Amino acid sequence: MSDSTKTLCPYCGVGCGLEVSPPAGLGKQTNRDAEGTPIWKVRGDREHPSSQGLVCVKGATIAEAIDKSRLLYPMMRNSLDEEFRRVSWDEALNAIVNRIQTVRLTSGPDALCMYGSGQFQTEDYYIAQKLMKGCLGTNNFDANSRLCMSSAVAGYIQSFGSDGPPCCYDDLELTDCAFLIGTNTAECHPIIYNRLRKYHKKNKHVKMIVVDPRRTTTAEDADLHLAIRPGTDIDLLNGMANLLMRWGYLDTAFIEECTANFPDYAEVIRSYPPELVARKCGIRLDELETAARYWGESKRVLSLWSMGVNQSSEGTAKVRTIINLHLMTGQIGKPGAGPFSLTGQPNAMGGREAGGLANLLPGYRFVKNPQHRAEVEQFWGLKPGQISPEVGRTAWEMIAGLETGEVGFLWVAATNPVVSMPDLERTKAALRKSPFTVYQDAYYPTETAAYAHVLLPAAQWGEKTGVMTNSERRVTLCEAFRSPKGIARPDWEIFAEVGRRLGFADKFAFQNSAEVYAEFVRLTRGRPCDVTGLSHERLKQQGPTQWPCPDSGAKRDSSRLYTDLRFHTPDGRARFGAYHSKGLAEPPDINYPFVLTTGRLYGHWHTLSRTGRIDKIRQMHPNPFIEIHPRDAEKLEIAEGDWVEVLSRRGKARFPAKVTKAISPGAVFVPMHWGALWAEDSEANALTHPECCPDSKQPELKACAVQLVRVGVGGGVGVSEPEVLSAGVPV
Ligand code: SF4
Repeated sequence: MSDSTKTLCPYCGVGCGLEVSPPAGLGKQTNRDAEGTPIWKVRGDREHPSSQGLVCVKGATIAEAIDKSRLLYPMMRNSLDEEFRRVSWDEALNAIVNRIQTVRLTSGPDALCMYGSGQFQTEDYYIAQKLMKGCLGTNNFDANSRLCMSSAVAGYIQSFGSDGPPCCYDDLELTDCAFLIGTNTAECHPIIYNRLRKYHKKNKHVKMIVVDPRRTTTAEDADLHLAIRPGTDIDLLNGMANLLMRWGYLDTAFIEECTANFPDYAEVIRSYPPELVARKCGIRLDELETAARYWGESKRVLSLWSMGVNQSSEGTAKVRTIINLHLMTGQIGKPGAGPFSLTGQPNAMGGREAGGLANLLPGYRFVKNPQHRAEVEQFWGLKPGQISPEVGRTAWEMIAGLETGEVGFLWVAATNPVVSMPDLERTKAALRKSPFTVYQDAYYPTETAAYAHVLLPAAQWGEKTGVMTNSERRVTLCEAFRSPKGIARPDWEIFAEVGRRLGFADKFAFQNSAEVYAEFVRLTRGRPCDVTGLSHERLKQQGPTQWPCPDSGAKRDSSRLYTDLRFHTPDGRARFGAYHSKGLAEPPDINYPFVLTTGRLYGHWHTLSRTGRIDKIRQMHPNPFIEIHPRDAEKLEIAEGDWVEVLSRRGKARFPAKVTKAISPGAVFVPMHWGALWAEDSEANALTHPECCPDSKQPELKACAVQLVRVGVGGGVGVSEPEVLSAGVPV
């Protein structure tokens, strides 16, 4: 019998299947880390349909991080100036319960906030919703997914009447034209990109268009790379639509029978003549025409996007403008076609199903919908009206609430906002004002731990059994393969214990996560994300499964949504969204003449809590850096490796220069991974601003205006080793 456990990679939204086995014996052959700790063996799960046995460097090395720098015990302190002291679970949980009760009584439930994570399993998300939105009566639960893909959620909802990516990974090998916009898929979603790249190479008729101001690894493989000016995505998309309409590529039968609002949209795109659009986007007219021709001539068009589209002050409009192209040409509901948003985090999708954003309730329901609130209240056994009709505070609104004193209690779990939020100086100042912050994480130290009053050790991936959903709606059971480190506990158990101590014992009487999941799935009955046909046991037997998966027993193909061309709107028609381009919230000007764009590198994950502790990955990407076009570098007398100070209206940072034609003139690129623990003055988000999309409330982390000053000559890139300030855990 195999001693391996099947699970899912806990990094990105591709959701690759893994098989993990214990370190073999303790002999010489045992794989060990630099400190001599035996390392668990990880390999790709060949039976997982999403990844077919493949993993990237992150998935392959994950086991090296699981024992390093772990938070082992609850710790507390009265103020941020004090040292933490080790406390019992009892003492920590009592302090939290007392604080929740006091704040609720004195300031009301809306002074309570929880900020969670796409690293949660669905069970963690679900219990957090039940606690905050159900029992405590505030919708102030938001997740770091707000910073990642909430524009995709809002776009799908507004265009189709419901969230839910309609495509599947098989579409990557069935399309005639892959249109990649705002996604460096090769580095950020490498395993699905491998599939697309191989298929594209083998099939000469298949076109690949990449829209990105950077010549990324992804763009290198494209038939057509459109290096548009940052903030001109809607111009480009409307310009392509203008040409598709002029050239007669419209699917008029589909438009008439399956959509609404086309006349308004047609009116808008008429004012995007190709010559003007090409000029505004900074590309040639023939490039724009080629893009429109590739799209129009292809039988099946698949668009892919991620944060380059979503992280924008007009993110929802961008998403809807991509969807418009599919609607006008009938490119949806069939193999190889459709608008496919790639999620960043491993279970951001599960979070959407469980209602894990401030505007959502479990089962793809909406806080603003009275019937949805009533359904959830009844299911949870609450009084009518107990769920607040107000949308809760989103990620940035929690920071704003700390600034004004309206937030009296903040609980952060499995995320590191002191690196990932925009405008970090403001974020840090707000967190310093927080009267009471609980930080629950598997790792210590992290940058956010420095702002907490209570630290709670969370069991991480591999130490708890639960469910995650990947970008193609595929649900995988992730079984525990080892015990939690120290006295860490699964996130859902911690939330449930607090719920019981607050007096809601009957609402949180779960013995294990299978029971939690069993309750959650019942709440999805009849909803677009119906998973009533799933349970831990069934997932174990039948393996990873795509939703919708109702328990009706009828066999169905859930690979794609909308194959019947009926959408979740009241009249069953998809909606065109008519948007003019507004451009960047902070365009460059004479004082801040460059556009800074931020992004991710192949090996690293988010804020380095794990990958910063893996030797191989640190060697792969040892330093932060700034990419500058040679023309700009020459003007500023910056040479390769020179230290460059980058200033925005909010803060500054320093990076060694990488002079490269990969970035367009007028733009610069900085990776977002490095926080204060890992490198000095290298926080990309010290520079970014919190202006959000009005619909999705997703901040524009991808673009802000900056000034560059050379501050040191040479010695930058690849020279200094990253300093890991591993303070260790007091035990
Ligand atoms: Fe993990 Fe994503 Fe890499 Fe797959 S592609 S192994 S899910 S990081």
